[in-house]
Amino acid sequence: MVNTGAGGWETVIGLEVHTQLNTRTKLFCRCPNVFGGEPNTRVCPVCAGMPGALPVINSQAVRLALRAGLAMGCSVNRSSLFSRKSYFYPDLPNGYQTSQWEPPICSGGRVALRSGGHELGVRINRLHLENDAGKCLHAGDGPSLVDLNRAGTPLIEIVSEPDLRGPEEAVDFMRHLRRLLVYLGVTDGNMEEGSMRCDVNISLRRAGTEVYGTRAEIKNLNSFNSIMGASRHEQERQREILEAGGEVLQETRHYDPDTGLTRSMRSKEEAPDYRYFPCPDLPPVVLDASLIEEIRAGLPEAPEARQKRFEDALGLNVEEAAMLVDSPGLADYFEAALRGGAGAKRVATLILGGLLPECARRGLDWTEAGFSPERMGHTALMVDEGRVSLRTARELWAELMDGGLEVEVLAERKGLLQVSDATALEEAAREAVEANPAEAAAYRAGKTKLLAFFVGQVMKATRGAGNPALVNELLKKYLEG
Ligand code: ADP
Ligand code: MG
Ligand code: ZN
Repeated sequence: MVNTGAGGWETVIGLEVHTQLNTRTKLFCRCPNVFGGEPNTRVCPVCAGMPGALPVINSQAVRLALRAGLAMGCSVNRSSLFSRKSYFYPDLPNGYQTSQWEPPICSGGRVALRSGGHELGVRINRLHLENDAGKCLHAGDGPSLVDLNRAGTPLIEIVSEPDLRGPEEAVDFMRHLRRLLVYLGVTDGNMEEGSMRCDVNISLRRAGTEVYGTRAEIKNLNSFNSIMGASRHEQERQREILEAGGEVLQETRHYDPDTGLTRSMRSKEEAPDYRYFPCPDLPPVVLDASLIEEIRAGLPEAPEARQKRFEDALGLNVEEAAMLVDSPGLADYFEAALRGGAGAKRVATLILGGLLPECARRGLDWTEAGFSPERMGHTALMVDEGRVSLRTARELWAELMDGGLEVEVLAERKGLLQVSDATALEEAAREAVEANPAEAAAYRAGKTKLLAFFVGQVMKATRGAGNPALVNELLKKYLEG
């Protein structure tokens, strides 16, 4: 789809996504890989960049990188190399980042996602392993301090081809990656803590032309809002330059979420500026075919596929399916509850319209609710079987969560057990018709919409406990028969 929203210009975007891996320890040493902590308490000679300290590659990081690469359809390079990428920054203790240059662990993949109502294929150029830098702490007027707790954290960098056509697609791609990588257990996906951040490369070209325009690269965006804001602003900035007959400079820019503006940081560096050379301290990463196959065989169903299955085979709508699938644990819970035999739609409704809102009210994560999938399945089944109405199940939700009583027991105590008993309902239906002769006559004369009025009467008489399908049927019998 050509995005000509920017007045005859097409926006072209490619992302470089940095993701922290969910490993126990750092990439080249045994310091714990955990967020935060007192500054400089998770540091050793290796991650502090002491001369002579030798790095050893973390095999768990290699496995997670492979998991991500295989799930994105990449080919795995049986032998890949770590190189030193030299640059100077105070939070980079070695004076270089240990990163993969050529060859990276994975190359050439493709992901498919839904964006703006259509299917979008995005080619992946490469995926490689590298270590994170530390953090500079700038406190007020005093000197800047360096915290090396984060230094050496394992990262994968995923580089897309410039296949994205606008800010919305860029955000959707990032959302897609985040969901996939969290699903795979590759990362915790916590963007506020910097677990996922990306660089947005963006350029404009005349709609309908092939050649890419000159791009700017906006560094280090760590929220969906910043990706959207930075690319929208950059798209406008470049359009103004191009329409005034000017030229976009190839440069690295910084985005300020407070002002919504990007500003130039430096002209873009090229690979030679980094003086990449193979790291003499690390042997090549050599992978057995059997390891690759083992990891491929262990991949879970991809979230896209799972969502599609929930929609197509189980009849959920897009929103329901997406909400359940967004959290792998919740999707598992849903599927476990289905084993109780209730309809999928019903189970979804009770999870999304009962369990989650009540947990939100209590400030609980749903996993803390202590509501087993078996009970969820049973509750849904009671609704399916007409023993309690959906409304009753929802109204009693708080009590269901607090006590151990099953929904039908609770409903019975409160006189809300649904009357499916034909005699009791028949009585109520007959009375409703007899007590409202004018409406009954109007109904018979063709105003069939009045059925709803009679249903209301019966519901009032049975305090909402009538099985709606049965009530409809009985009323029709009295009105028409
Ligand atoms: P570098 O490594 O120097 O940053 P690459 O050529 O590897 O450059 O590209 C980095 C990212 O920039 C990739 O995600 C790629 O898709 C994207 N990209 C390359 N050319 C363009 C362009 N003209 N417009 C937008 N994005 C681009
Ligand atoms: Mg780059
Ligand atoms: Zn260390």
